[in-house]
Amino acid sequence: MLTDHARREERPMLLERLMEVVRPEFRADVFHPPQDSPVFFYGFCRIPACPSAVIHGALMLCASHYQAWCRSTDRKGGLDEWIAAVDMKEKIGLTACAVDGCNRSRKAQFVCRRHHEAWQKAGRPEIERWLIGVTYRPPRLSVGPEASCEAPGCERWTEGPGHRLCRCHDEKWRRAGRGDLDTWIAEFVHGENPRLRFDGIPRQLRLELQFGLQCRHDEAVKLAPLRALKSAVNLARTSGVESLLDLTTAEWNMRLGGARLRSFGSMARCFLLDTRFRLEAILIEDDPWADQYPRDSWDLCLLGMRNGQVRHLRFEIGRASCRERG
Ligand SMILES: [Zn+2]
Ligand SMILES: [Zn+2]
Ligand SMILES: [Zn+2]
Repeated sequence: MLTDHARREERPMLLERLMEVVRPEFRADVFHPPQDSPVFFYGFCRIPACPSAVIHGALMLCASHYQAWCRSTDRKGGLDEWIAAVDMKEKIGLTACAVDGCNRSRKAQFVCRRHHEAWQKAGRPEIERWLIGVTYRPPRLSVGPEASCEAPGCERWTEGPGHRLCRCHDEKWRRAGRGDLDTWIAEFVHGENPRLRFDGIPRQLRLELQFGLQCRHDEAVKLAPLRALKSAVNLARTSGVESLLDLTTAEWNMRLGGARLRSFGSMARCFLLDTRFRLEAILIEDDPWADQYPRDSWDLCLLGMRNGQVRHLRFEIGRASCRERG
């Protein structure tokens, strides 16, 4: 029988078992949930040109567009009008300049930044007429040829030598905080989707949390929004434990604020406790009865006997009682 604090000597066995069952896509330093997962995301951003997933559902905007809406000073027309304007701007940014032969991304309605400057120098004539007379000139040989934007899937050119991104993606990179460009490009395929980072977490604890994510994903019955998971991972990171089994369920409840938590805090607690339970189940999976039988209280879930709301069967002197999960 395991004591409430699962014995430390059980840890290598648990680690070994987790190494067997946690699949590679859940083991990375950064977890990118599958974009179409209804477990981790609420859906897609309601701006049609934006492919990002939605982290919280009130406005159904991705994190980046939600921030943009909050910061916007042009909200007179309401959310729908703002969405239409942003959508048009995003689509323009991904479209090639209308000057024949120029493949830079558009800055304004029709042309790239350079051709927009040329149009302004020409005295801002009627744009369609001006486009007929203008021709694209490749850069001088000393400058080198045009280069393709390095954002995967992008077909536009960069803004010129020394640039690795087209204007549109350069703006996105700047908006994201101008971090390391190689990392930004490598993660580009995941768009602006929220992600979960496991840095600073002891090896075993990290694998336990990743196992919890895998279970949620595979079962696909319980919502696990990234915002709640980030909170759970942060709680685990700052808890000082090396395994969720270092603390009993009651101790975790005390640390996590018990019943006072609401919404995402409550979901975070639920994820940690669920995962802890699953780890216990792994430790006794060969013979759950041998672990539970001598106890004063049986956990019917560990015995695979849960029926309706009743979780624990508690034995006191002379009588048996059932208690609902609390
Ligand atoms: Zn968006
Ligand atoms: Zn152009
Ligand atoms: Zn690009």
